Amino acid sequence: MKISEVIKILEDIAPSQLQESYDNSGLIVGNPNDECSKALICLDSTEEIIDEAMEKGCDLVIAHHPIVFTGLKKLNGKNYIERVVIKAIKNDIAIYAIHTNLDNVLHQGVNSKIAEKLKLSNCKILKPRRGDLNNLITYVPMSSIDQVRMALGEAGGGSIGNYDFCTFMSEGKGTFRGNQNSNPTVGRKGEIAIEPEMRLELVFPSHMESKLLKALRESHPYEEIAYSIVPIKNSWQDGGSGLIGDLDQTMTSKEFLQKLRSDMSARVIRHTAEVEKVQKVAVCGGSGSFLLSDAIASGADVFVTGDFKYHQFFDAENKLMICDIGHYESEQFTIELIGDILSKKLPNFALIFAQTGSNPIHYFY
Ligand SMILES: [Zn+2]
Repeated sequence: MKISEVIKILEDIAPSQLQESYDNSGLIVGNPNDECSKALICLDSTEEIIDEAMEKGCDLVIAHHPIVFTGLKKLNGKNYIERVVIKAIKNDIAIYAIHTNLDNVLHQGVNSKIAEKLKLSNCKILKPRRGDLNNLITYVPMSSIDQVRMALGEAGGGSIGNYDFCTFMSEGKGTFRGNQNSNPTVGRKGEIAIEPEMRLELVFPSHMESKLLKALRESHPYEEIAYSIVPIKNSWQDGGSGLIGDLDQTMTSKEFLQKLRSDMSARVIRHTAEVEKVQKVAVCGGSGSFLLSDAIASGADVFVTGDFKYHQFFDAENKLMICDIGHYESEQFTIELIGDILSKKLPNFALIFAQTGSNPIHYFY
């Protein structure tokens, strides 16, 4: 198994284009064409994790957080980041990270894993991304319209919420003239042809562009295919930050806090004043305070995340209950998520969940 094949499976779910600008997800150490036989899955690729990988004979470490965020100018082991990179290279261990791209997908992402643990239903992205969607417009002869429409739908184009194969078709006439080097499917070289055609339109997220154009080229009968790709401003329902969903029954704040502590194996929950009832739950794995106003606007009763600061707790203003369970605790099941994604596609590939804890925060109480 090549490292690149493992990465492809993960990035089919969470394309690397969906990572935030400050992120550094991807293959951080190693050659994508190298073979790998056993992967260790963890949240943070610390020195102790690399030691565990060596002990257990793993040649690939799959982490949620990238060990390297910014450029390394020297590599002499003066901090833990450089020591991890040096140790990994010396021991022929590749390090791959899948971070904010895995945070930013609705299906099989960090937040849907939290929603699964809390048994939330009707899950939606809390803050959908903007600027990711495009409209593909192409012109297809009548006789091939079904074939092209189906091929684009199969490739993932025209998916809107719970619907797929969404297209719009309108009839018209196309004109063209092929030169002496042409090989027209209809009409003759050197003569202007007027053909009944369909204008076919559908939306798609940018990261699918090459897959969609390949499907278009393979299904469209013309030698030269007329198409345009137009960026649109609509928000994208399947990608973005945080998630909101419903509990199957309304509960009191105390009942919810108890459930949260047990479902998420949280040691401590730092929370704001209790609310009257809890039914709508917003979640964001990791540092989610930037989503507080979106959680309030969406009508959430509680917002479960990590890394809230003292002054940010005031911003809840009793409109919802902030529940800070800790960054590590909120993301700990991401290991299970990555394992699920890979084991479904690679049932015979050896995957190990790291036993070495990497939470730098300890609790004394
Ligand atoms: Zn995180």
